[in-house]
Amino acid sequence: MTTDFDERFVSIMERCRQRLPVSKDDRRYLLSFPENSPEGIETVHTAESLARSLTDGTGEIGVQIGVIVGPCYADCGFCNFAYSTTDVEDFTMGDEELTRYLRSVTSDGLVSTVSLMTIHNFDIDDYLHIVETARSVLPEDVGICSNTGDLEAHEARELAKAGVTTAYHALRLGESIDNRLEPIGRDDTVRNLIDAGIKVAAGVEPIGPEHSVDEICSSFEHSMDIGCWCCSASARVPVEGTRLFDAGSISDMRLRQIRSALMLSSTDRRDTELGFYGGFYGGMNRFYGEYSNSPKDREELSEKGMNHTVRWALESLKKEGYGKVRRVDGTTVPLPL
Ligand code: SF4
Repeated sequence: MTTDFDERFVSIMERCRQRLPVSKDDRRYLLSFPENSPEGIETVHTAESLARSLTDGTGEIGVQIGVIVGPCYADCGFCNFAYSTTDVEDFTMGDEELTRYLRSVTSDGLVSTVSLMTIHNFDIDDYLHIVETARSVLPEDVGICSNTGDLEAHEARELAKAGVTTAYHALRLGESIDNRLEPIGRDDTVRNLIDAGIKVAAGVEPIGPEHSVDEICSSFEHSMDIGCWCCSASARVPVEGTRLFDAGSISDMRLRQIRSALMLSSTDRRDTELGFYGGFYGGMNRFYGEYSNSPKDREELSEKGMNHTVRWALESLKKEGYGKVRRVDGTTVPLPL
């Protein structure tokens, strides 16, 4: 690091590298710099180097499949499924299609987690059937992650019984303002999942240019405080036809800086999954392909629209400087494949 940085910045970077506690004020301080400032660039460089070194250059990949979609009553202003703006029809994936997807994405033994996504309003019995089917088709070591609407305590327990071991559930920025959900329902669901023995990954999302540093950091701290296993950060993706399409977006570099500052300022949490800091859908050492329907894409099949396939996940790891990928059996193989 050059000596041009001020003492406070140098000392925070050193604490982060040594995995010592960093204060909430210092977390906000790291994000007070513009993304293209020397401090912003150094924050990203330090976080990404640390992630590569802590993982020994080994990445992991997962896949998310939209299994129950349609007009969603949560009506999030940024989402392709929002009730007031969508033209997507109700869809529940059948056994045959699900089996085809699962066999195809896990055929080379590289995908370690499959996330099964629904909109907010979904039929729990249909979803439990989907999870049970997935569990019977997937190799034993491939984990099942749920990404659903809010859940009662007994529903979370049923998911655990059906084979869900991890979940993604976020208290979004703009909850109840940009949609019709109440923050308390989101938090209760996180607690219900944790009580059911399911590890919950949260996310600061969807970040737009209007969100302050304090809102971003407070959202991260709230997720960690209520017991989430890790918390990523994702930007709002402008989807044509949605209410927030014209609301602007943050730059890729700012997103990297946010992910980096959140990761670096909590490296003392040694029980936390490092890879998820990059974002549930991509970054650092973990990338997720997206199949079937996605909230961020108007195409019916997101693997054809966004094209975030298993191949994309592997290429993304390589671009991030990862030389190996962990197979589901625990062995590693070099990239590119
Ligand atoms: S982001 Fe999720 S909860 Fe919000 S409208 Fe889309 S599917 Fe529904």
